[in-house]
Amino acid sequence: MSAVTRHLARELSLVTETRVTRLAAAPDGWWLSDPDGLDHGPFDRVVITAPSPQALVLVEPHDAALAQACREVIQRPCWMAWARFDGPLPLLPDVAEEWQAATVATGPLRFVARNDHKPGRARQGESLTLLARLAWSEEQLEAPADWVAEQLLDAFCASLPEGTPRPIPRETGAHRWRFAQPDVFARGEPVNRDYRRSTNGLALCGDGWRGPRVEDAWLSGHHLGTVLAGSR
Ligand SMILES: Cc1cc2nc3c(=O)[nH]c(=O)nc-3n(C[C@H](O)[C@H](O)[C@H](O)COP(=O)(O)OP(=O)(O)OC[C@H]3O[C@@H](n4cnc5c(N)ncnc54)[C@H](O)[C@@H]3O)c2cc1C
Repeated sequence: MSAVTRHLARELSLVTETRVTRLAAAPDGWWLSDPDGLDHGPFDRVVITAPSPQALVLVEPHDAALAQACREVIQRPCWMAWARFDGPLPLLPDVAEEWQAATVATGPLRFVARNDHKPGRARQGESLTLLARLAWSEEQLEAPADWVAEQLLDAFCASLPEGTPRPIPRETGAHRWRFAQPDVFARGEPVNRDYRRSTNGLALCGDGWRGPRVEDAWLSGHHLGTVLAGSR
């Protein structure tokens, strides 16, 4: 997911792996503080792409309207598991040998991606990403990761046609994305309002302002960037 932004940022000066804990407005611009007590700045503008609950903490002391907008974007959690295999998955009747992804209609599992069939990954060996249903993720939010991985792999195996030998993984694991997916459409917002801006130099963009996919994040940032570039 980050390949596009890594490519776009290749000639930019970046500070990464740094959580911003606080924003401060000073006469020379915005300053960003990190957990080591370092201050970064000054900046004319600050664009925040963090999920809304994390953006809220940063904008709340500075802009009531942006803070309220953040409160209105619900971010739902999602459990994601993976399984790696020593050999190929069993062949499935009436299914292309090179199948790449599957959706599962019922149970805890909603989506399966076959990672080694993505471009450029042929040599990584058979591996699956297993995305849980959001409602199930909410119910099992505090469950242990090993148990979640087992449940999602069991659900995958149960979705295979009867008689298919159960694939035995070499390694499994799970990760909980606490702010995985925005509930944008529940808000009924029109998608042409896919970023927020204040007059004091703060702005918010990202998937939460538009929809749950990476192209939504892209379009939100693109629309905000176009407006900012035109308002120098
Ligand atoms: C498990 C999973 C699978 C997905 N699969 C797909 C898929 O197959 N296809 C698809 O189109 N979309 C998929 N998505 C959705 C896609 O990943 C998102 O839509 C996209 O990453 C959103 O980009 P963004 O830049 O808005 O936010 P993010 O990618 O969430 O980036 C926000 C960044 O802000 C950082 N951050 C947060 N707080 C702070 C802070 N205080 N200081 C500094 N940095 C901070 C975070 O660490 C993060 O790096 C998936 C999402 C998940 C969780």
